[in-house]
Amino acid sequence: MGKIKAEYIWIDGHRPTSKLRSKTKIIEGPVSELSQIPEWGFDGSSTMQAVGHDSDRSLHPVTFVMDPIRGGDHILVMNEVRYPDGKVHETNKRAKLVEIAKKYADQEAWFGIEQEYTFFRGRSPLGWPDGGYPAPQGPFYCGVGADEVFGRDIVEDHMEACLLAGINISGVNAEVMPGQWEFQIGPSGPMEVSDQLWLARWLLYRIAEEYDVNATLHPKPVKGDWNGAGAHTNFSTKAMREEGGYAVVEDACKKLGAHHEAHIAVYGAHNEERLTGLHETCSIHDFRYGVSDRGASIRIPLATVKEGKGYLEDRRPSANMDPYEVCARLMETICS
Ligand code: ADP
Ligand code: MN
Ligand code: MN
Ligand code: MN
Repeated sequence: MGKIKAEYIWIDGHRPTSKLRSKTKIIEGPVSELSQIPEWGFDGSSTMQAVGHDSDRSLHPVTFVMDPIRGGDHILVMNEVRYPDGKVHETNKRAKLVEIAKKYADQEAWFGIEQEYTFFRGRSPLGWPDGGYPAPQGPFYCGVGADEVFGRDIVEDHMEACLLAGINISGVNAEVMPGQWEFQIGPSGPMEVSDQLWLARWLLYRIAEEYDVNATLHPKPVKGDWNGAGAHTNFSTKAMREEGGYAVVEDACKKLGAHHEAHIAVYGAHNEERLTGLHETCSIHDFRYGVSDRGASIRIPLATVKEGKGYLEDRRPSANMDPYEVCARLMETICS
């Protein structure tokens, strides 16, 4: 037994998009199960989760991973925000997903989330000339070479950190706009994918700090003829992955079409700047699904058609979406 550093991470009440917060607690370790991690608290009046005269809010640990930055027995702890009496706070979107995940557990939903993001140093995307623009888009997607990709060291460090932490990261790639990148989490169940996506976001910000770089999840970080940043959400149920699954995928697409607005409502702020119908998107006002179609709201991957089973890709969620809300909405629409 000895002292370890536990980094308590939570989601604040910032509107329209919540931000990550964290602080360190020294606890007795090593820790092998959640029940060994104590509840904690914070000043909710500084995170838009309380007013000053009644400001205590609770941090309720929900999952933890080994801390890949501090190493040793140190840990990162993901928390739900609650009131001191245990009541779920309004800004806590995770609690609802726990219920929905339980309700439809028999359908064995899997999610794979493609998190796009953009590095900035100061006011410009990383690698862009100060106050100016680089060459037009074209060579940068999955590019190689110092004139085409910017920030690879950070991306490599982040990917390694995710693996060390046991996060189910499934890949990374340089994106269409220079300075923009993507990592994917999954396929995993709804709780795992969303807790791990939030932890992976925290690791990205934290590791980029070391390089004096910040990562933004804004869906349209540069106006004009530049790609936005999304969080394509790949989804399947057991029935979709089994023989005859293609019909179940198509049926899900039809259900999604009937609830377009309800989905857009939780797919991220400023998403209308990104979903214009240009730059590999479908307009926010339209709903379309199609095979291999990167201009559709929902893309059915070619492999799913060929094998007659598989998954669908919801291309609408923006990079700054809350995975707790997106996973809950997808399960409500498709699993019910
Ligand atoms: P894209 O071709 O759209 O760039 P990516 O390879 O970036 O696709 O991401 C696809 C994601 O879908 C990965 O995270 C992958 O793990 C996930 N995925 C694969 N199969 C399934 C499935 N059956 N259900 C849900 N997600 C899946
Ligand atoms: Mn991708
Ligand atoms: Mn992408
Ligand atoms: Mn995609």
